[in-house]
Amino acid sequence: MTTISRIENSPAAPAGAALLTTQPDRNCPLCPRLADFRAQARAREPGWFNSPVPSFGDPDARLLIVGLAPGLQGANRTGRPFTGDYAGDLLYATLLEYGFARGVYQARPDDGLTLVDCRISNAVRCVPPQNKPLPIEINTCRQYLAATIATMPALRAIVALGRIAHDSMLKVLSLRAAAAPFTHGAVHQAGAVKLYDSYHCSRYNTNTRVLTPEMFRGVFAKVKADLG
Ligand code: SF4
Repeated sequence: MTTISRIENSPAAPAGAALLTTQPDRNCPLCPRLADFRAQARAREPGWFNSPVPSFGDPDARLLIVGLAPGLQGANRTGRPFTGDYAGDLLYATLLEYGFARGVYQARPDDGLTLVDCRISNAVRCVPPQNKPLPIEINTCRQYLAATIATMPALRAIVALGRIAHDSMLKVLSLRAAAAPFTHGAVHQAGAVKLYDSYHCSRYNTNTRVLTPEMFRGVFAKVKADLG
């Protein structure tokens, strides 16, 4: 089902926009390679979600977290962002620690976990092969990321997980790449919204110590302090 939302004075709303599609159709055909990969996954694993993964959390939240794309056996399987794979273990533990989530994370969409003043979305809504979306797919799916942001009237903080999410956010927020380079821990101002950069909380990044849990917590501690 396609979800249409009306912009409500979002600090990041594009000028002139009135009606936006925040959730693609479950059979969205705009990226043929990803639609084909999705069809293969449906044939192989009919019990999995295997569709564009919707955002999780309240549109009235002040914080939005933007990941790369659903993991094959994570969000693509369960239908909730970051749910069911390693990246979710670290992300949800950190959100619980800083009060951006409530409940117990059990890696299932029916675990009762709720987000507090927080929403989670992805730069690309469909699972890509090898977790690597093509530039054209990132560009094509940006309309849904832009619509999601434009329909969050209280938005003040965006955490971009990884360079691809960061780069896509720069385009949505009309920030120049040279003025806002991706660095873990960096904060970029875009009007009333701050963009916080973090390395992605993937198993690869944590196994290689590119990102430690302490480094990840540092980003959310800063967000928490800034939001008050
Ligand atoms: S990645 Fe986005 S634009 Fe591309 S097919 Fe999926 S939902 Fe559609």
